[in-house]
Amino acid sequence: MSIKICKFGGTSLASAANITRVKAILDSDKTRKYVVVSAPGKRFDDDIKITDMLYQCAKLSRESGKCGKLFDVIRDRFTEIVNNLQVDIDIKSILDETEKAIDEIKTDDFAASRGEYLNGRIIAKYLGFEFVDACEIVKFGENGILDSDSTNDIMEKKLAKIQYAVIPGFYGAMPFDHVKTFSRGGSDITGSLVARGVKATMYENWTDVNGFYAADPRIIANPLQIECLGYHELRELSYMGASVLHSEAIFPVQDSRIPINIKNTFEPENPGTMIVPDEEYKGNGHTVTGIAGKKNFTVISIEKSNMNAEIGFARKILSVLERYGIPLEHMPSGIDTLSIVISSDTLKNGLKDKVILRIREAVNPDKVTVIDSVATVATVGHGMCKVKGTAGRLFTALSRSNVNILLIDQGSSEKNIIVGVKNEDYERALKSIYLEFLAHHENRFKV
Ligand code: ADP
Ligand code: ASP
Ligand code: MG
Repeated sequence: MSIKICKFGGTSLASAANITRVKAILDSDKTRKYVVVSAPGKRFDDDIKITDMLYQCAKLSRESGKCGKLFDVIRDRFTEIVNNLQVDIDIKSILDETEKAIDEIKTDDFAASRGEYLNGRIIAKYLGFEFVDACEIVKFGENGILDSDSTNDIMEKKLAKIQYAVIPGFYGAMPFDHVKTFSRGGSDITGSLVARGVKATMYENWTDVNGFYAADPRIIANPLQIECLGYHELRELSYMGASVLHSEAIFPVQDSRIPINIKNTFEPENPGTMIVPDEEYKGNGHTVTGIAGKKNFTVISIEKSNMNAEIGFARKILSVLERYGIPLEHMPSGIDTLSIVISSDTLKNGLKDKVILRIREAVNPDKVTVIDSVATVATVGHGMCKVKGTAGRLFTALSRSNVNILLIDQGSSEKNIIVGVKNEDYERALKSIYLEFLAHHENRFKV
């Protein structure tokens, strides 16, 4: 029996008009049984996402006791949605309770989760589906890390009894009912957990673009739409910055081999992008599948003669990061040099100097060089590195565009080559790689 999970993102649910589209999508296929919703996102470019406002509410409430007027803006948006959809729900009481709870609890996680919660309550009522609070079925441990196994057990039992349900994305519960959210964009993870929990045949992820593109559409105009991706390539592209799907959303569906279909709420007839288990993925004949990247990294390069002979050299450096709880993004190395690439955000408030000092103490290097404002760009392709000359073409394309390469990291998976460039060269780098490898392919779905 076919069971589809549908996750709808913020833009898809930003207004009553958009929610009407969502209803039409669900009505057209009765196997779309479980719906995971985000909070209302932007209706237009300068609009503010409900989630962003809720984080501000929590801050205001901590600083001045109450979120007050800012919550009124949120109140107006939800009230407008309810009125326009003519949903029979006492939204005033629900909003009053929510405001009171935000002012009492004051945590970022609780406040931010309320966008999904409120939208879920409204949309469930509008669709005539049962509302299932994510706190009942998504469980985090005391350490704040998702408890994947108990989430799966609880979800399986609870949802087996319900035919059609709406579940708010993005959050769940820690012990003692403390609300905990995933990182931003985390409703994609909830969708994936629900898909695994109900043994879905398909996880449809409905968003505001036609699918996974070969590059960020905000930088490359009309990029190639990817028809099909393997789980592994998806993970590489999303981790490296293709923000259309949360990079952790792959894990729950991966073991159950549930395919993901990225679809456009505003163009439902487009087939979108299918994401399938690696063994089922045949590739598309292109050398490069896609390019993704992110700005704002710090590269710390450590030089020491004959470092390779020093047992535990890398471990000593990594233990400095561990001590400060700083995640490592990449670690390219050469003879007598080793670089660590770290998100600059994690080195704020004087941490950068402390880390460098501790590295000096730990390994007594000949030289330490630090470069800030670095962007990483990953060029990803199934078996890309088996095609002779790929790296040469990549580096030539970058040098033709006058982009200076600060570091190179060729992943051992042979599915990607990562380069580090200056933040200000990021867009140019992306465009030149796109032009070299992808621009000449025919876009089958282009309108
Ligand atoms: P949602 O709110 O539906 O979860 P997101 O904003 O999280 O949507 O993700 C969709 C957005 O991701 C698109 O509007 C697009 O601007 C951006 N994006 C970045 N890289 C890519 C890519 N490679 N393919 C498609 N979209 C991308
Ligand atoms: N609303 C949350 C965010 O803006 C989660 C999500 O949309 O997936 O990050
Ligand atoms: Mg998203």
